[in-house]
Amino acid sequence: MPDHAAPMIILGAGHAGGRAALTLRDEGYDGPLILIGDEPHLPYERPPLSKALLKGTMDLSGCSLFDPARLADLNIQHLAGNPVTALDPARHRLQLADGQWLDYARLLIATGGRARRLPIAPEQAGNVLYLRTHDEAVALRTALQPGTRLLVIGGGFIGLEVAATARALGCQVTLLEAGPRLAGRVLPERVSAALLELHARNGVDVRLNVAIEALQGTDHVESVQLVNGEQLACDRVVVGIGMQPNIELARAAGIDVGQGIRVDEQLRTSAADIFAAGDVCEFRLHPDGEFQRQETWRNAEAQGRHAALNMLGRKLAFNDTPGFWSDQYDWGLQTIGQIAPTEPDATRALSTGGFVLFYLDHQQRLTGACGWGPGNSIAKDIKLCERLINSHIALDARQLAHPETPLKQLLRS
Ligand code: FAD
Repeated sequence: MPDHAAPMIILGAGHAGGRAALTLRDEGYDGPLILIGDEPHLPYERPPLSKALLKGTMDLSGCSLFDPARLADLNIQHLAGNPVTALDPARHRLQLADGQWLDYARLLIATGGRARRLPIAPEQAGNVLYLRTHDEAVALRTALQPGTRLLVIGGGFIGLEVAATARALGCQVTLLEAGPRLAGRVLPERVSAALLELHARNGVDVRLNVAIEALQGTDHVESVQLVNGEQLACDRVVVGIGMQPNIELARAAGIDVGQGIRVDEQLRTSAADIFAAGDVCEFRLHPDGEFQRQETWRNAEAQGRHAALNMLGRKLAFNDTPGFWSDQYDWGLQTIGQIAPTEPDATRALSTGGFVLFYLDHQQRLTGACGWGPGNSIAKDIKLCERLINSHIALDARQLAHPETPLKQLLRS
C-alpha cells in the first residue's frame, strides 16, 4: 500500500518529468515532491539542441521549463547528479547511486532515452559526437567551426537538423544514410524527396544506400571507409542513428516492458502506483491498437501533464493526437495524427512550393496529415487538419487535394 505521507517522486528531470512536476503543483498538490535527474540541469526542452542552441542563438535558459527561483517557489526538491539505480515496486521505494533508499507514494518514470551508439565507432575517438543532451550540444557546437569537414551518419531528423545547422555555421557537410531515402522509416516518399532537394540545394553532399565498412583512426577518426571502397576524409563525425529508451531500471524491477515501459490507458505501468510518460513510455491510443512509442515534444508535454493528473487520482484516459515538427534551414515540416511512410490518400500542392499530404481511414475520415512549407507557413493548415481529425467528418479526397478549397470550409461541411 502506498504511504500517503511519502513524497510523489518523478524519476527523470527532462521534459515530461518537468511538465509533470509543474502540473502536480498547478493542480494543488502541496505535499512533498522530488524530481530526480542525472543531468546537472533543471528540466529543459530538447528541440533547440539541434537548432537555435547548436547555432549559438539560444542558451540553456531559453529552453528551460523553469528556473531555480520557480523551483524554490514551488517547493520542488531537485536531486541532480545522484541518479536512481534500482526500483523496488513491492516496497514503494527506489535507490539512488549514493545507496540511500527513498520511499514514494506514487512514482512517475520519465527517463527518456539516450543516443544510440554506433558499434563500429572506436570507443575513445574524441571527434565522434552524439546529440541528446544540452552538454552534448555544447560540445558539438564547439566542434562545428567554419570549414570543419563534418560527416553526419544517419538521415533521420537529428542528422538532418544537425546537417542544416552545420551548414549555417560554415561547415562542409557529407550525410550518409543507409536506406534508400531520408527519414524513410517515418515519412512518405514525397517528403523524403523534398528534404533531399533542400539539403542538396544548401550544399550538403547527401549519400543514400550507403554501407559503412569502418571508421579509421583510434583517438581520432580521420576517415570513413564505405563498403563500396570509397574513403571519405573528415574532421568530425556526428552519429544520429536513433535513440534507445532508458527502460533498464523498469525491466530489472519486473515492470512490464516492450520497446518501452508499457502502460495502460491511464499511463499506469504494471506496478502499483508507478506511471510512465514521454519517450520511454509504450502506450496504445485505442484499447485494440498497437503499442507505440512517440519520441516527440508534443507527446512529452501531453503525457507528462496527463500522468501527473492521474497520479492525483483523476483516472483519465490518454488520447492526445500525436504530432511533431522539424525545422531545417528556412523550411518546416509539421505532422498531426497518424502518418505513415506509405503513399498518402490525397496531396495538396501549395502556392508556397510546399504541400500537405492527407491520410484517410476506410470511412474517408482524416487520420493524419503532414505539411511542408517555408518558415512556419504550414502551421495554420496543420491546425485545421487537427480539427478535421477530431471532427471525424467523412471527407472527399479530391477536395482535400484541391488547393482552392479552404480546409476551413471542409470543417464546416
Ligand atoms: P528526456 O527529455 O530525454 O528526459 C529524460 C531525463 O531522464 C533525462 O534528463 C535523463 O538523463 C534522465 N534520466 C534517465 N535515467 C535516469 C536515472 N536513472 N536517474 C535519473 N535521471 C535519469 N521533438 C519534436 O517534436 N520536434 C523537434 O524538433 C525535436 N527536436 C529534437 C532535437 C533533439 C536534438 C532531440 C534530442 C530531441 C528532439 N525532439 C523533438 C524530441 C523531444 O525533445 C523528446 O521527445 C523529448 O525531450 C522527450 O522528453 P522525455 O522527458 O521523455 O525525455
